[in-house]
Amino acid sequence: GDSAGLQRASALISTTPDFPTPGVLFRDVTPLLADPRAYRDVLDAMAEPFCADGDAPGFDLVAGIEARGFVMAGGLAAAAGTGVLPIRKAGKLPNPQVTVEYGLEYAEAAIESSGDLTGARVLLVDDVLATGGTLRAARTVVQRLGGTVVGSAVILELEELKGRTLVPGCHAVFTV
Ligand code: AMP
Repeated sequence: GDSAGLQRASALISTTPDFPTPGVLFRDVTPLLADPRAYRDVLDAMAEPFCADGDAPGFDLVAGIEARGFVMAGGLAAAAGTGVLPIRKAGKLPNPQVTVEYGLEYAEAAIESSGDLTGARVLLVDDVLATGGTLRAARTVVQRLGGTVVGSAVILELEELKGRTLVPGCHAVFTV
């Protein structure tokens, strides 16, 4: 996506104060996902550092975090010709092989997954990087399943929450 396309896409992220709890400025990418051009431009921009032009992608699997991360993981994987690893919120899988607990901006949480990722180069994706706890926990999930995390990417980084300190090198399409 060119910069005009990305600028247009960024305007489709809505901001709601005091949701889900007082003091949280909630960023909703749903309108961006519903717009075909914006969705395509943002997927291209997320993948760019991990797909040198003309070469095979530098990952074998895209791990997306429930729920909005799934939407990005599916689009990125289909474009790159890889599979998807859904990383679930706790309690959704009958027999998770790995569970990792962590602290969120506005809650305690745990994520889970299963599978043999031996030899897999995994790209981690989510919609928003806030405190970084979620992506750091996702990295641990992938590593415990035997995979190698080659990078992480989000649509939007919330700079003042300093999530980058927990997720060094995270690729953010937009930063506020
Ligand atoms: P964190 O673990 O603090 O980086 O939080 C990231 C996860 O929580 C992502 O899955 C986001 O969807 C969600 N999240 C946290 N803070 C926000 C926010 N201010 N707006 C939208 N989503 C958020």
